Amino acid sequence: MRTIRDLEGQLAGKRLLMRVDFNLPLDKATGEISNDLRIRMALPTIRFAREQGARVILMSHLGRPKGKRDEKLSLKKVADRLGELLGAEVAFAPDCIGPQAASAVAGLGDGDVLMLENTRFHAGDEANAPEMSAALAALADLYVNDAFGTAHRAHASTAGVAGCLPSAAGFLIEKEVQYLSRATSNPDHPYVAVMGGAKVSDKIKVIRNLLGKVDCMLIGGAMAYTFLKQQGVGVGNSLVEEDRLDVAAELLAEAGDKILLPLDHVCARQIEPEAESATFDDEVPDGWIGLDIGPRTTALFEEKIRGAALVTWNGPLGYFEIEKFGAGTEAVARAMADCGATTIVGGGETAEAVEELGLQDRISHISTGGGASLEFLAGEELPGIAALQ
Ligand code: ADP
Ligand code: MG
Repeated sequence: MRTIRDLEGQLAGKRLLMRVDFNLPLDKATGEISNDLRIRMALPTIRFAREQGARVILMSHLGRPKGKRDEKLSLKKVADRLGELLGAEVAFAPDCIGPQAASAVAGLGDGDVLMLENTRFHAGDEANAPEMSAALAALADLYVNDAFGTAHRAHASTAGVAGCLPSAAGFLIEKEVQYLSRATSNPDHPYVAVMGGAKVSDKIKVIRNLLGKVDCMLIGGAMAYTFLKQQGVGVGNSLVEEDRLDVAAELLAEAGDKILLPLDHVCARQIEPEAESATFDDEVPDGWIGLDIGPRTTALFEEKIRGAALVTWNGPLGYFEIEKFGAGTEAVARAMADCGATTIVGGGETAEAVEELGLQDRISHISTGGGASLEFLAGEELPGIAALQ
């Protein structure tokens, strides 16, 4: 994969179109930016391009405007915040293609930065329309993609435009690919994968792909109950995907003894902070919901993680949004932080859990792309990255 590093010395005076992921969370009441982490993460690539003398043209989507202008989803406020973080002026074009974009680009000097308006104000972006890709490409000499979170989508601003211009990956995508590749090709052993979260259905392909590579897969979270039910273990009122029992059976058969399921369960009668809770061995009794792994399971999972050379983790081990069902998730996060192995975390809620615990600096890599990292771990080609090769 070609990266922006490979373009060192070739960027001066060039119009560099860069796809970033500035799809920031906005406060529902005020519409203000509630977290600017995604801007801060893109700064190294933007700074490098400026230092190299490129004329930097940034584009992103924000929210789901469905192909129409929606002032609430304008990137203007994002451009202003970027300017503050960058400590430089950031120009703004009220459209991402056409004459307004072209004249804004024409006004750029070397090292200047321009933010284009939301690419999804045009239906052609998500449709990957060739006219849209061509119109974006017409603005620039080179294309850099640094939006890992949308790399699994073949859109005009990700895959389409990459086919129209000489292209390369930014530092964020480079780092994601470097780390996630360690989980999928020639992984270090012992390799332990921890899987959890709400649904088996979201992660079947990941489980299947990783089963062929890991020494051991620890499964907790709600998804464990579909596997346990398939094995004839009592699951009470726990979340079970009845239509995935067959797949669970296939995966268990493929896994041999690699999959470890919960041995005990922290349960409640309702998913509420005030609900009565209790820990049960082996089975979840009728009338109870399994909401976290119990202490025996936690000890087993910790021991496996401590012995690993590589650990990947996707999906909380319990309903961690309620503190008393968060112990399993916390224990796994701490075991990963302390184990000395290469540790990779993927998934929106999982990353959130690690950050809430303040452990983000003790994990080798926390992926920023929910869907994109799942597709990568499933062994699938990401169109936004494949287009750069
Ligand atoms: P990620 O975003 O990290 O990929 P998922 O979206 O798959 O994770 O799942 C996260 C959700 O799973 C969390 O909101 C958590 O509350 C829920 N969850 C985990 N364990 C359970 C459980 N035993 N019962 C119900 N929900 C659970
Ligand atoms: Mg999620």
